[in-house]
Amino acid sequence: MTAIFSKVSTPAINVSRAYTMNASVAPHPRNHTPKTGMKFAVIKAISPFVRFRLNMFIKTWKLFAAKILNFGCNKLSLSLMSKYTLVIHGGAGTILKEDMSGELEAAYLKGLAHALNTGFALLEKGAPALDGVKAAVMSLEDNILFNAGKGSVFAKDGSQEMDASIMDGKTLMAGSISAVRNIRNPVELAYAVMTQSPHVMLNGQGAYDFAMLHGIKTAPDDYFFSQFRYDQWKQMQVSGKTALDHNVVIKDKKFGTVGAVALDVNGNIAAATSTGGMTNKQYGRVGDSSIIGAGTYANNKTCAISCTGHGEPFIRAVAAYDVSCLMEYEGLSLHEAMNLVVNEKLLQMDGEGGMVGVDAQGNAAMIFNSAGMYRGFRSSDGMSEVAIYK
Ligand code: ASP
Repeated sequence: MTAIFSKVSTPAINVSRAYTMNASVAPHPRNHTPKTGMKFAVIKAISPFVRFRLNMFIKTWKLFAAKILNFGCNKLSLSLMSKYTLVIHGGAGTILKEDMSGELEAAYLKGLAHALNTGFALLEKGAPALDGVKAAVMSLEDNILFNAGKGSVFAKDGSQEMDASIMDGKTLMAGSISAVRNIRNPVELAYAVMTQSPHVMLNGQGAYDFAMLHGIKTAPDDYFFSQFRYDQWKQMQVSGKTALDHNVVIKDKKFGTVGAVALDVNGNIAAATSTGGMTNKQYGRVGDSSIIGAGTYANNKTCAISCTGHGEPFIRAVAAYDVSCLMEYEGLSLHEAMNLVVNEKLLQMDGEGGMVGVDAQGNAAMIFNSAGMYRGFRSSDGMSEVAIYK
């Protein structure tokens, strides 16, 4: 914890400054100049080749340097030879500094930093990206501040039903669960579906039965209860609406769907997302978080993406997979593809929210079209950041 906090900025920092190397916050669409014409066509055609040659050159020299320096020092060789990165989010929405007490803000930043450190510690030891994202998401699920696992929002009937998913970019294997109750760490169950069942998606009671067979931890209703969520639900009941947890105006509100993407030392990427969904949801509503391609996607060829926001537009936009498609078929960079999906396509569909992403080269981005997004990243080149507002 201490290590990262020495590098974590105060919330007032201009976050884009800290992301100049690998991660970035997208410009507002009004400032976005469409990339067309001869110049862009030439850059588009040449740059992947140049980038590829440059990467090969850097990799060769890193390998050479690592071989010279690696006299029994595994950790040093690991960090010289390979890059690893973890990016997380804790939900997006109308998150305004003026609505936040200093104490609450500090608690959010601490929760984000703890999740980053937990997942990153595994990546540092050479663990797969899948383990890194699972550990980071479990840490956020265990934190009552975020809308996932403990502290999930209430549905219209007063229950707390959760959705989660996970995907491996190397094998394209995926696991997901929806509308489950009393599962302590929904992402752990999604992982078990991926690794121990022939299926991709299980829901409700069936998912619970599967969890029982595979020793997944459960918890009583009390464990998931949060007074803040309860008050938020009561307020929504009066209006009869469904809401993104972050947008309900309550003093001292504590919200946030969670997700993580990672690149490991072996060049594999993975994504995971977990949520309690939207407050006052009904009829067994399932959001994008458990839908592979909508809220979560990972493919070593392109990127790993985890989304947060108003689930319905994200489902209709097949948001996470669209980023991957734009990279694969249109040759866009991770940042360009995420920016197009979040700040143009989703905005046109009233799709408020954001996403975090990483590609197999270690580029990372955290892009949102809402007032804020709880987020953070940490990479093997020593860069790290946690932030909340625009
Ligand atoms: N995307 C989630 C859902 O629609 C909600 C959120 O990200 O806050 O269920």
